[in-house]
Amino acid sequence: MINLLDFDRDGLTRWCVEQGEKPFRATQLFRWIHQRGVADFERMTDLAKSLRHKLEGRAWVAPLSVISEQVSRDGTVKWLFDVGAGNAVETVFIPEDDRGTLCVSSQAGCAVACRFCSTGHQGFSRNLSTGEILAQLWHAEHQLRSRLGLPEGERAITNVVMMGMGEPLQNYAALVPALRAMLDDHGYGLSRRRVTVSTSGVVPMIERLMADCPVALAVSLHAPDDVLRDELVPINRKYPLHDLLAACKAYLVAAPRDFITFEYCMLDGVNDRPEQAQALLNLVRGKVACKFNLIPFNPFPASGLKRSPRERVVAFADVLQNGGIVTTIRKTRGDDIDAACGQLAGEVQDRTRVQVRLADRRPFPLQVQTETP
Ligand code: SAH
Ligand code: SF4
Repeated sequence: MINLLDFDRDGLTRWCVEQGEKPFRATQLFRWIHQRGVADFERMTDLAKSLRHKLEGRAWVAPLSVISEQVSRDGTVKWLFDVGAGNAVETVFIPEDDRGTLCVSSQAGCAVACRFCSTGHQGFSRNLSTGEILAQLWHAEHQLRSRLGLPEGERAITNVVMMGMGEPLQNYAALVPALRAMLDDHGYGLSRRRVTVSTSGVVPMIERLMADCPVALAVSLHAPDDVLRDELVPINRKYPLHDLLAACKAYLVAAPRDFITFEYCMLDGVNDRPEQAQALLNLVRGKVACKFNLIPFNPFPASGLKRSPRERVVAFADVLQNGGIVTTIRKTRGDDIDAACGQLAGEVQDRTRVQVRLADRRPFPLQVQTETP
């Protein structure tokens, strides 16, 4: 059976034509599924009976089964979805006064293995399919709409951030059709500025995203130099800061926003000193138009790291701000249900033995050797 959530509209059109149907049928079908949340072909009343019958035998709209749903004191909702074979991924809805943001997962686990991230500590199992990425949005949007009693046509989710579990740019082939369905006026109709891909810095894929589907870009920086970034975000050893910043600058040519958002997770005694803020300023100023978003580290068991004290985060922000770079400090949302950044753990059957590799790591704070022997 074909899962119709696996297609963007072009893909669905090709499939419909292969089934002997007119291309416009795909648009009708796409609207039923994504705009109205309907999975039952019988309810798609403007489709010919013969087509509905054909669909019954060949295709379905595959939902993800919900293992649990938690609602935080602040209204944040977290779903845990079963993706089979002992893997589960998490999706978080963050309501704000003027918008509703859905934080979507792209992989079961993550192979990048960042030091401060609970997903990274779990290792990597597999990429999600386009259908599994879109099913998170499909479920959340239509469930929230009916729960909030929104009138027909009004959306619960106005922004999507690919900031859940996984590195979206290491699942590029599945990501792009999912992004296209989010942007499609016959799908979720989100503007490019309101769909954000967050990456640890997969440089070649940043370049491809620019050509294939430019949306807002957030880059997880976390360190002002390669020595520290190599430790915190291991993919830096492959794509160092110089290359990453060049890719960011190039991305701005096609980006829907005229800046890149740099995310920086504030780790006590590791990357939060004023001179590191200064080094960061020197690194980016005049080179790439950017804003900074400082994320207070959200601890999880076994990280061995601590959150920077509030004063240190504010002082760090001041250095950047005084240097002319707009800097915000991210509010922690949903921490009572472990839904905050970096706390998404789901359930991952690690196939990379990441725990073994992590055990070999040097302890923090990192002692950089400066003296000659
Ligand atoms: N893999 C992508 C997107 C998912 S992570 C990326 O790394 O950008 C989303 C954001 O949460 C990233 O900026 C990441 O650095 C941050 N993050 C990860 N673990 C965290 C933690 N424990 N506390 C705070 N932020 C964290
Ligand atoms: Fe993967 Fe992002 Fe976590 Fe790093 S921070 S391990 S890239 S999910």
